[in-house]
Amino acid sequence: MTIRETFQTPGVHLSCEVFPPKAFDKLDDARAVVRAICQLRPAYVSVTYGAAGNTQRFTQEISAYVQSLGVTALSHLTCVNATRDAVNGVLDALQAQGVHNVLALRGDLPEGAAFPTDAHFRHANELIAAIHARGGFCVGAACYPEGHPEAFDRDRDLDSLRFKQDAGADFLTTQMFFDNTVLYQFLFRALKKGVTLPVSAGVMPVVNARQIRRILSLSSASLPQRFLAILDRFGRDPASMEKAGIAYATDQIIDLVANGVNHIHLYTMNRPDVARAIFQNLGPILEGSHE
Ligand code: FAD
Repeated sequence: MTIRETFQTPGVHLSCEVFPPKAFDKLDDARAVVRAICQLRPAYVSVTYGAAGNTQRFTQEISAYVQSLGVTALSHLTCVNATRDAVNGVLDALQAQGVHNVLALRGDLPEGAAFPTDAHFRHANELIAAIHARGGFCVGAACYPEGHPEAFDRDRDLDSLRFKQDAGADFLTTQMFFDNTVLYQFLFRALKKGVTLPVSAGVMPVVNARQIRRILSLSSASLPQRFLAILDRFGRDPASMEKAGIAYATDQIIDLVANGVNHIHLYTMNRPDVARAIFQNLGPILEGSHE
């Protein structure tokens, strides 16, 4: 099933993200993580892609593995530094393995590297257009409730989002956010710009304080007071931080669903135990259509 079709079915759709291993000898461990996550029967499982190269071939491998377990796979694909032939090669391989959903991204250059002047793709909308023209894929794209770090301002960032829709994207997945008000305001502003695609809201259960430093270095997500209080109180106590992080993410999802957001993507950081706890906490909230 394509993700576009999944989003057309009634009810709440909770999906999970996994990342592939960096080395061949970790492939079995990654498969074990994927098996445990797929047992939760998520709406789909997305598999990240290393823009810099080393994990790229494992993205296809893990995506195919997700499909083999009877769960829809969403394979991430970045285009920074990629040629059209290389992109087509990846798409051919995915298609051959029965993977028909791709999250089309620009990706980031390694720190300090310059953007090549002869780049085949300069922005994600160009990759989306190429995949759309080729056909056979349901195409997702990234969006940023607090603005992309490189964007001049949020208004222009929303113009770029409109380019992705116009290029043929089928749905959007948000960068993580910790304050639902930020998402509601973003959805409102996106709609005013004519962005009408279904949006899956990215929720990250923060289960240790170390993750926060990484989040802040990779995204422009702001941390609300309620979240900072949890970090202050439990950040140095791993067991308590894990409980509190799972409770915070559960609470965030319940509020999203209560406010009509039906598609939620969990940044599971390859922790099936954390994903399982959230699925269990939500229980019947995931089952009914509540409409
Ligand atoms: P773009 O859409 O190209 O946007 C980048 C910047 O350029 C933005 O500031 C935007 O406003 C601007 N812009 C966009 N289009 C235009 C245009 N046509 N003209 C002028 N300006 C424009 N990275 C990975 O390496 N691997 C992954 O697996 C991965 N998965 C991700 C999943 C999600 C849900 C998200 C939110 C991000 C993910 N990323 C991943 C990170 C992503 O690659 C970076 O955030 C990257 O910097 C931007 O990617 P993009 O596709 O949004 O790029």
